[in-house]
Amino acid sequence: MLDEPRGIAAVITVWVLVVGPFVAFGVVPLVWSTGLSWLNAGMTLVLYLISGFGISIGFHRYFTHGAFKTGRAVRIALMVMGILALEGPPTQWVAHHRRHHIFADREGDPHSPWRFGYGPLAIAKGLLFAHLGWMFKRELSNPERFARDMVADPDVRRIERLAIPIGLSSLLVPAAVGGLVTGTWAGAASGFLWAGLWRMAALHHVTWSVNSICHVIGERPFATRDRATNFWPLAIVSFGESWHNSHHADPAAARHGVLPGQLDPSARVIWALEKLGLVWHVRWPVRLWPAAGATRHAGTGTPPRSGGARRACDARRTGTSSAGTAAGGSARATSA
Ligand SMILES: [Zn+2]
Ligand SMILES: [Zn+2]
Repeated sequence: MLDEPRGIAAVITVWVLVVGPFVAFGVVPLVWSTGLSWLNAGMTLVLYLISGFGISIGFHRYFTHGAFKTGRAVRIALMVMGILALEGPPTQWVAHHRRHHIFADREGDPHSPWRFGYGPLAIAKGLLFAHLGWMFKRELSNPERFARDMVADPDVRRIERLAIPIGLSSLLVPAAVGGLVTGTWAGAASGFLWAGLWRMAALHHVTWSVNSICHVIGERPFATRDRATNFWPLAIVSFGESWHNSHHADPAAARHGVLPGQLDPSARVIWALEKLGLVWHVRWPVRLWPAAGATRHAGTGTPPRSGGARRACDARRTGTSSAGTAAGGSARATSA
């Protein structure tokens, strides 16, 4: 189940990436008197979009769940975009996330908020653990078991060797642009702070909220074997990832916001890419079974429902079950 423990350098990196932005924003603005200029706001938005879709469309819906197929250029672009989010190398991201789906909210799940029990204190502790506590453990999911396709993919191996410079560029390029445009060191510092650190931290906490909040608070309209919820306030900033109950009910679907009015920007982008002929064999959801007597709000103290997720048969899915995809990613899309 697990790989060799995370190395000490990786543990330090996690600490720096999690705590660094808070320290920087607590201290540096006093020194540099930086504000959010239009330049920084623009760079922050653009980098948030690029790295955010890299996670939601790339790392998550494509690499982890095989929600569509695409060619080599788009695959590499999605990988690089995801690395810019500084959420770790794609193989480990995919391995953790597939393990999460297989063991969701049960023993073996790397980040279930229900780990400590169902009382208010246990849930509070669990939320903190699911949000970021789990990353400080030295535990790594075994890629040979959970992401063998990624391990065997020469493009993934090649790009992952460049993960550190690619990741650093998402912090240093905005600093360089800020410095060059304003011609000042303060401009470089504020570019680094806003479009680099702040943007990275904001996306981190949105991603982590899907692991924490979206397994505790919100609605559960569909039958799943875990406690994943739909949490609407995060729909736009997470690019549709917070429709997490629907996602757990049908993990390989390219759209997570399946009910009327549920905004899912990632699904919209995948739809546009499909129209442009850049992605194909997209697994659009057809119908999900509603949960029998589903609780509308979690945190009621009841344990996870047992039994597998039930999903209506999708004729276009040629024999690939979503559970099978989540289990091993054996059906991950590859270039045709
Ligand atoms: Zn989940
Ligand atoms: Zn998933």
